[in-house]
Amino acid sequence: MAFINLLRCYVCDGRFAPRLMTRIDGDDNAAKREIAINRRDGFQRPALEVTDLTKICTNCNQSIRNEIVAIEEDPACLRLNVLTQTRNSTCLICDRTDNLNVLSIECKVNVFISHNIFIPQNTKSCQHHLNVEGMLLGPLVQGLRSINRPYVIRGLYLQAFLQGLRNVANQPRKIDENSISNSEFQCLCPINKQQFEELFTFCDKLPCTGGYKYVDKKDLLMFLCKMRKGLSDEFLTVIFQYPSRQATSMAVATVRQSLMLRVVPLNIGFDAITRQDYIDRHVTDLANVLYNAEPQTSRLITCIDGTYMYIEKSSNFRDLRQSYCVHKGRHLVKPVLIIAPDGYILDIQGPYFSDSRNNDAAILQNEFDADADRMLRWFQEDDIVIVNRGYRDAIGLLRRLGITWKMPALLPPNQCQLSTDDANESLVTKQRWIVEARNGHLKLIFKFLQQTIPMHHVPNFGDFCRIAGAIINKYHPTIEMTGADAEKAYEMLEKAKEPNTV
Ligand SMILES: [Zn+2]
Ligand SMILES: [Zn+2]
Repeated sequence: MAFINLLRCYVCDGRFAPRLMTRIDGDDNAAKREIAINRRDGFQRPALEVTDLTKICTNCNQSIRNEIVAIEEDPACLRLNVLTQTRNSTCLICDRTDNLNVLSIECKVNVFISHNIFIPQNTKSCQHHLNVEGMLLGPLVQGLRSINRPYVIRGLYLQAFLQGLRNVANQPRKIDENSISNSEFQCLCPINKQQFEELFTFCDKLPCTGGYKYVDKKDLLMFLCKMRKGLSDEFLTVIFQYPSRQATSMAVATVRQSLMLRVVPLNIGFDAITRQDYIDRHVTDLANVLYNAEPQTSRLITCIDGTYMYIEKSSNFRDLRQSYCVHKGRHLVKPVLIIAPDGYILDIQGPYFSDSRNNDAAILQNEFDADADRMLRWFQEDDIVIVNRGYRDAIGLLRRLGITWKMPALLPPNQCQLSTDDANESLVTKQRWIVEARNGHLKLIFKFLQQTIPMHHVPNFGDFCRIAGAIINKYHPTIEMTGADAEKAYEMLEKAKEPNTV
């Protein structure tokens, strides 16, 4: 009968009466438990989880207590937050015992630095709890538990651990979306972290010979930083720790091509929006009042303007001529912006080189010629296109297409009564303000477009413009009129609603 009540010692497997035995679970027993587990391993006995039912015998208990006293008296003894999941023969996360790897020094050093938890030397883990770099996955690190207790780090492990700490201390600070705060992020990048995560999901892999090129988050962040700040590839190589300038330029090209696959066609250009959606969503009441003879019937109204951007003067001009076939001596490029009255960028075309045969009007002509089908689906009879003075020569073309054209700064004679009203005229000019504001906004957000364009980016400059436009449309869709302009515009809207005006 009495035999039934005997328990087995967790360490030595001896049988004893329960009252002679001691528990080893709980935080208070962490040191004792670790030694007990080690000794059980030493007896070649199978691993067994310690629970509230686990007991050790008086002899084992005393012997373990002696060992703890010896540790505490050891001059090498430290007090550390030691990981509590220390089972030598099982995974530190789950209870598996097969296919385990001892955690790398880098992994243990990282956990010590980030969470102040010391992981003993032989701690093991299954492969699937680790990332490609052999680091414990983030959520698992969050779940690690420790207890502050006396601990001796033995010679060789201490040496390896100190070396691991040195390596981390000597590493330059890594820039990625996790290592920088939200406000720092928005200073580097034209979008916030959440938008960055979303944009990243649109960065498709690029087919290339022998497989695919992939865009990773570092590449995308570097690219956006380049666009935002207008930084050279040399500079970005240092900041983002690419192995060489060539590697950086390659990453820039990969991200650019990837964004051109989906982000650009979905957010800018004649395929990104239907004609009706454009009229419904982007033609403002004010624009109808200003330009539309029947403001009650909303019409397609758009503003077209060229903007100048400078390209590098290069001694190596032959390269440019070969890659781009331009006449020599051209150091200006002109992208053409087609903008809705609310600031939505319908399209950015070009860029065109500005020589005598390539003035604003010729650009417009080229646009309609080159992309006639698509443009004509958009620009139908009775549409209103607001053009700047530079486009005077294009008026014949617009007229042929049956498109109503307006040049705010140079009103046609039959509308000269508008120009007698100073307030109105300035407001008409204000509508061109949206183009200039958008233009300024683009260059403000993307310093890359404000600076002199480096020669090697000239062949792909149109891509950069359209990527900037797509990001603006996707994440910065409207420009608000402010202050006096807004008040005047509102007044005019109210006046237009009264029946006897005009
Ligand atoms: Zn025992
Ligand atoms: Zn595991």
